[in-house]
Order: sequence, then C-alpha cells, then structure tokens
Amino acid sequence: MTIDASILNDRESCLAADRADELASFRYEFVLPEGVIYLDGNSLGALPKAAPERARQVVEEEWGRDLIGSWNKNHWYSLPQRIGNKITQLIGGIDGACVATDTTSINIFKSLAAALRIQQQDAPERRVIVSERENFPTNLYMVEGLIKFLGEVEGSRYELQLIEDERSLTDMLANRGNEVAAVLLTHVNYRTGQMWHMDRVTREVHDAGALIVWDLCHSAGAVPLNLSASEADFAVGCTYKYLNGGPGSPAFVWGAQRHLDRVEQPLTGWFGHRRPFDMAGSFEPGEGANRFLVGTQPILSMATMEVGIDIALRVDQGLLRQKSLALTSLFIRLVEQQLAGHPLTLVTPREPDKRGSHVSFRHPHGFAVMNALISRGVIGDYREPEVLRFGFAPLYNTFTEVWDAVQQLRDVLENETWREAQFAQRGAVT
Ligand SMILES: *Cc1c(COP(=O)(O)O)cnc(C)c1O
Repeated sequence: MTIDASILNDRESCLAADRADELASFRYEFVLPEGVIYLDGNSLGALPKAAPERARQVVEEEWGRDLIGSWNKNHWYSLPQRIGNKITQLIGGIDGACVATDTTSINIFKSLAAALRIQQQDAPERRVIVSERENFPTNLYMVEGLIKFLGEVEGSRYELQLIEDERSLTDMLANRGNEVAAVLLTHVNYRTGQMWHMDRVTREVHDAGALIVWDLCHSAGAVPLNLSASEADFAVGCTYKYLNGGPGSPAFVWGAQRHLDRVEQPLTGWFGHRRPFDMAGSFEPGEGANRFLVGTQPILSMATMEVGIDIALRVDQGLLRQKSLALTSLFIRLVEQQLAGHPLTLVTPREPDKRGSHVSFRHPHGFAVMNALISRGVIGDYREPEVLRFGFAPLYNTFTEVWDAVQQLRDVLENETWREAQFAQRGAVT
C-alpha cells in the first residue's frame, strides 16, 4: 500500500502509517539505541543485528581456527567478487561487473584513470575532465591528484572544468564537448540531496563523445539504480552509508562490460594480476573487474559488511523509493508548516524526482542547532556552510520518528536552547 505522506498531520496518523508500512519489519534487523532518532544513516548506516555474529565468526573461527587456510576454505579470496556481484544486482549493473574493494576515493582515482586511458587510445585530443563544483571534496581532490600525477609522470596535460548544474553541463558540452575526455558526477549530492537524471545526463555525455563515472555514495541502497539501462561507463560508491556495511567498510567499483577488457589503471597490484600466485616478475591484467583490485583486502570489514548488503538485496527497490520519498516529503512539509517563523531555508530540491533520501535546511546557526538536537537524541549532521542535514534510511526510519524529530527541532528553535555555550564547540569530525 502506498503511504500518502500529505495526510499525516499528527503523531497518531504517523503511528498508523508505520503500522501500514510494508518495509516496517526491516527496522527490527538493526540495532537502534533506545531514545535515539537516527537520521544519519546517509553518513554511517546502523548496525545490522546479524553483523556482530558474523564478525565473531570471521575473527574467532576463520582467522582464529582456520588461519591462513581461510583464503581458500572460507572463500576470503573471492570476497571482492562475491560481494561485487551482489552490488551489481543492487545497482542494476547486470551488463557489467563490480568488485568490492578499497575506498571510494581510491576507486575514483582508478576508474577515472581507466576512462582516461580508454580515451587516450580512442580520442587522444580530449584533455578535459568535467566535474561539479558542489561535488564531495575528495572527488575533486582525487581528480586534482590524478591530473598532477599524469602531468608529472606521463607529461600529459589534463584540466579540470567545474560545472554547476545540468544546464551548465549542457553548455560546457555544447562549447567544448570535443575536448572532454571524462565526466565525474555524484548522482545524489552529499550536501543538497539533489539527484541527477542518470539516463539523460549519461546520454548527453556520450553524445559529446565523453565517458562518465558515476559516484553512487548517496544513492546505493537509497534510490533505485539501473546502470545498465542508463548505459553508464563506470561507477563507484561506498557501502557504509545506506548499505550499512560498517565504519570504513570497503567501497565498490563497477565497469560496463564493453570497457572491461580495456581497463588499465595505474595501481597495478598483485590482486589485479591474471595469476597472482604465479609470483611473476611483471604485471599482466586479470579478467574483468578484477583489474580494479590492488592488494590484500580488509577481510574483517569486508565479511561484516556483507550482512548489510544481504539485507539490501531483499528489499523491493520500488517500495524503498516510495517510502523514502514519503519520509522526506513529510519532513519537508512539517518543518515548513510548523517552523515557518524561523530562518530555515530548504536546500534540497522540492521535486521528488530530483532528490535522493536526505533533506537539508540552511539555518544561520546550523552548527549549534544540530548540536542541540543531537544532545536530545535526534542525530543528523552538519555540513558547511550552515547546513543541517537529515538522512532518512527507509529500511529503519519511521514516520513517527519524522514527527518527533520535527517537534524536537521546534523546541530547540522556539526556546533557543542552541544558544547554550556547549553547542558551539567543535570536534575533529562534524
Ligand atoms: C561519502 C562520500 C565519499 C567518501 O569517500 P571515502 O573514500 O570513503 O572517504 C566520497 N564521495 C562521496 C560523493 C561521498 O558521499
């Protein structure tokens, strides 16, 4: 049954919506501390209840008892592919292959380098990399690092061009499309929650003769994806956000089938070798997405993260999206109706098909307001500048939590509790 969030106007009706929610049972698969409304699953997903047992097993039994034999016996060696295959299903990447490995930052470097290498063979005159000014910083830093590396080591000059939105991307491609080698976009923006139209943008980039790398950090596990239908070239993403893989769990990197035989990336470690245990003196690339592997994998993290991926695989993506939009629509409407007198500005697109699963509001004292909220057990996060960010994980957040979070926010703002000195203090991580 589709839940109509526009008719939820009191706590009772939110409780009723939770009872009618077809995804409600997933909440019981996660550890959610008493007294906490966790609206930060877009930054660090909650702990699946089955994960501690899997962690115990991999540590005590596989490592403790089976020791090095576990690489074969307990299939440690094939974990990047096994989990990668599951992620392939989740992101609709059937016409391609994926491995779970490394971090998103490193996978950006490798996949972008692979895209540039393909272009070097097909269209060597293309020397522009396009990304978005509002991209997550590490994405831009990795592009800068790659450009510097290619310039200093290979003597090839690339430049980074930043666009703002779809219109400026279209303009850029119209003016300089024949210079563009690759485009790196983040499907759902980490700060604003704005979502690109993957099909249309991919087509536009291809029409200009460029390749596209999609970053799915805030999409995987939150919005339905179909990389194959979109004809995407490469994709990366992390698993510790909506996929609930655990802090620092390995990221993923996916490539379309048509490119896999041509993938060359500079971090040619032995796990990417065709036959690592030949201990050969020089590198020969492995098959398919294995070429993205570098060295020995973090098995403890990887084994534990599979629990979160397995939960995500059981979820109907259509229902997930419906609930996500119902939660975010409800939150936007309640904040705007009930807190109308306060200087809150919606940063996230109002149109449902233009946003992911988090909602951001600007407030001039955003940092202190968020701290005051967190002190009451409503955990969202703060992003520069002045942005209060609330992630709605459709697997475990409820309509009643949305209601209660808005009441807490109202109390913080009406009584100005955020003015207390303690809420101005910053930690190393925000
Ligand atoms: C979370 C996030 C990252 C994180 O990268 P790490 O290498 O895991 O630290 C990168 N890019 C985007 C768009 C993100 O949202």
